[in-house]
Amino acid sequence: MKQRALFLFLFPVVISVCFNVFTLSGQESSGPLWKAGVARAVITPEEPMWLAGYAARDHESEGTLVDLWVKVLAIQDAKGKKAVLVTSDLLGYPRKVSDHIRNQIAVKYGLTRSQIILSCSHTHTGPVLDGALFDIYPIDEKQNEAIKKYSVTLEKKIVELTGEAISSLAPAKIYSQNGVTRFQVNRRNNTEATINLVTDLKGPNDYAVPVLKVTDTAGKMIAVAFGYSCHATVLSIYKFSGDYPGFAQLEIERLYPGTTAMFWQGAGADQNPLPRRTIPLAEQYGKELAAAVDRVIREDMKELEPSLSTAYSEVDLKFSAPPSKEELLKIQQEATGYQKSWATNQLKILKDNGSLKSSYPYPVEVWRLGSQPVMTFGGELVIEYSIEMKKIFGPDLFIIGYANDDMAYIPSETILQEGGYEGESSMMVYGLPGKWESGIQETIIGEMKKLAYKAGIKEIAIK
Ligand SMILES: [Zn+2]
Repeated sequence: MKQRALFLFLFPVVISVCFNVFTLSGQESSGPLWKAGVARAVITPEEPMWLAGYAARDHESEGTLVDLWVKVLAIQDAKGKKAVLVTSDLLGYPRKVSDHIRNQIAVKYGLTRSQIILSCSHTHTGPVLDGALFDIYPIDEKQNEAIKKYSVTLEKKIVELTGEAISSLAPAKIYSQNGVTRFQVNRRNNTEATINLVTDLKGPNDYAVPVLKVTDTAGKMIAVAFGYSCHATVLSIYKFSGDYPGFAQLEIERLYPGTTAMFWQGAGADQNPLPRRTIPLAEQYGKELAAAVDRVIREDMKELEPSLSTAYSEVDLKFSAPPSKEELLKIQQEATGYQKSWATNQLKILKDNGSLKSSYPYPVEVWRLGSQPVMTFGGELVIEYSIEMKKIFGPDLFIIGYANDDMAYIPSETILQEGGYEGESSMMVYGLPGKWESGIQETIIGEMKKLAYKAGIKEIAIK
């Protein structure tokens, strides 16, 4: 009896050792692995819709230049912890849409907010989503209904794709590295009209092209996710397109058939692709970005250990003193266009709630994939955040802006003091009561540092 019991006890151990030896000899690298899965779908609207991002448009879309996509990469570390990165050819996720998607993903797949990144390319030739920049679009009830219907379909599709990506999880390797390209221009400090005459472009800038490469165990690339800090505003036409990030993804997928190319917008709020306005220029910048990614793919990349840490929080960002009722009434009477609608809406909020919004719950999130830190910020993030965070956490850091909630521009303290579009007037476009209160940069960076420490990311002193 004793011997039999010992055999029964040892049998699984023997099997396990044999299996491990077999696995080790069958693969190039030993040890535990990531798992990864990818899913994708076209999200080009089937009917004409209002196009997002510009107040000056006066009618709905007229066809498609290139299809819009949403793509999901699910990853799982050696201990079984999962996360999903969603990229999309959209302007941004309004809070309402983002909450619906993230709540559903939590219910269906058990992922918390720290395990989900909803990112976008910030294309200005995608559809308007429910709850986004409503004051600036002169839309009627019928168009509004189309926007609501599309948004619900989109939410469902992203939740379904997340399930598909998770159910296709298979052993994988993940690599990271920063590349470089330089077609973006600091739009606050350089003038578009005279850009072709300028020989000394002014910064600040961050030229990084962060790249995450995912391969199967045989080394075949199944996905490549990359970013760049530059507005997707080459095009202001009436056709759906992914702008330069759309062309970059198409080019990578042409170079590497079978791979899913995914793009996230970085800290591009004050960066424009200049010169711009033509389709060949959007194609050119797309190819330039794809060439930067391709170079990184073909060089040695850092292989990431299959360990994943994630952290998420929302920090209250305060608005400065709100306008008085009298000031709002004056604007409502004297202004036109979106300023008039903004004042009307603020007066309604004042009447319904007794006061205007005094703060906003701003989302920040951190992932650590092996030794690779990834930090995501909500809203239209200006480039100084990327530069500042890299001074603290090193140049290898990946920055994702416009993530999880596109509520407003997020100016640096310098831009907030200077004012202008990114510092002040864009708040009206976003339907918010006024500019951010001074101290915003310190608050955001302070919160991000806390999350980074929680996720085991260390500061790196740059000399
Ligand atoms: Zn923008």
